Amino acid sequence: MTVTTANSIEETDALRSDDVWTAETAIARAEEHCARRGARLTPLRRWVLERLWNDRERPKGAYQLLEDLKKEKGNAAPPTVYRALDFLLEQGLVHKLESLNAFIACNRPATPHVTRFLLCRDCGIAEEIYEDLLDEALKHAAGRVGFEIQEGTIEVVGRCVRHHTTGHCDRNSSD
Ligand SMILES: [Zn+2]
Ligand SMILES: [Zn+2]
Repeated sequence: MTVTTANSIEETDALRSDDVWTAETAIARAEEHCARRGARLTPLRRWVLERLWNDRERPKGAYQLLEDLKKEKGNAAPPTVYRALDFLLEQGLVHKLESLNAFIACNRPATPHVTRFLLCRDCGIAEEIYEDLLDEALKHAAGRVGFEIQEGTIEVVGRCVRHHTTGHCDRNSSD
């Protein structure tokens, strides 16, 4: 697939997408990403992003993030968390899972993409899948009906493999 990137920054991001990202490298790259865009990862925005990266498979709702923030830092007003999430969404650093009303970190912030998630209905994990073939298929299908895809989220619900092999897929109990 031809990578339709506007500049070399986005290509860099795409090349890095198959790396194994740790929360630490993700935050470092998020900082670079924001700096390139003239945005700033303030301590609160950073905290929210770290929180999402630390247990990346589990999407978190704004309310849960707010509760965690209160536990860790004392009082915190809901708007602060919502504003931080809005910022992270704008920068492409997180995605919103509409069906769960929850957020998850993305490791391809500089590459605009249609996001595709596999959601396990039993354990609640979410996995973002990056498949160029899917992009091609979508573009092709849209093109046939005269439609240009710009952005969007596809959420597919099912059961993770762990569920099928162990009978339950709670990561905490089986790891
Ligand atoms: Zn993504
Ligand atoms: Zn599962």
